[in-house]
Amino acid sequence: ETFQSIGLKEELVQAVQALGFVTPSPIQQQAIPLLVSETTDIIALAQTGTGKTAAFGLPLLHKIDPKAEGVQALVLSPTRELCMQIQEEFVKYTKFSRGINTLAVYGGTPIGTQIRELKRSVQVVVATPGRLIDLLERGAISLDNVKILVLDEADEMLNMGFRDDIDFILKNSPVRESTWLFSATMNNDVRRISKRYMKDPKEVSV
Ligand code: AMP
Repeated sequence: ETFQSIGLKEELVQAVQALGFVTPSPIQQQAIPLLVSETTDIIALAQTGTGKTAAFGLPLLHKIDPKAEGVQALVLSPTRELCMQIQEEFVKYTKFSRGINTLAVYGGTPIGTQIRELKRSVQVVVATPGRLIDLLERGAISLDNVKILVLDEADEMLNMGFRDDIDFILKNSPVRESTWLFSATMNNDVRRISKRYMKDPKEVSV
C-alpha cells in the first residue's frame, strides 16, 4: 500500500510527500491502515528508526477533529528529547492541516510557559508522565476529552519508574476510546499495562 491508498486525509498525504516519504515502512504498513479504519487498541513492537512515530502519528492526526474542544489525543513518551522529536515530526505532518495544534510538555523546563501554552487551543499533547501529572495537579490540563492515548517506548517508560504515573493517567482518561502501546520489547510490566487497561489489543511487530 501507498500513503495515498491507505485512507489518510489528503493534507497528511501531502505532508508526507513533502517530506519525501515514498513507501510506508513495514510498521507503518501494519499499523496505519488498521488504526485509520478501526477504533482499536494496538500493541506494536517496534524499535526506534523503524518509522514508528509516523505509524502512530499519522493515524492519530487523521482522527483529530479540528473543530472539537479540548485535548483529543495524548502521547506519553519517556524523555524530554523524545517528546521534542515527536513534536517536531507532528509539526511536519500537520504542515497542511488547518486548525490542528500540537504541543510538547516535559520536565526540566519552566512549567509556567507550558501552562500558558495550554491555555491556547491544543488538540494533541506529547508529554513525559511526570510533567503531565504536575500539570494535571495544577489544573492546567484536562484529560476529559482524550480519545486516543499513545504509550510510546512503553518498556522504557516503565524501566524509568513511571509505572504509577502511567497508571494514574490511564485511570484518569474517562472517555479514552483507544490505547496504542508502542514498545521495543515485551516484558511483564508491559503485559500488565495491556491486561489492565487495554481492550482486545491487536498485535503487530516488525
Ligand atoms: P522513527 O522510527 O519514528 O524515529 O523514524 C525514523 C526516521 O525515519 C525519521 O526521521 C522519519 O522522519 C523517517 N521516516 C519515517 N517514515 C518514513 C518513510 N515511510 N519513508 C522515509 N522516511 C521515513
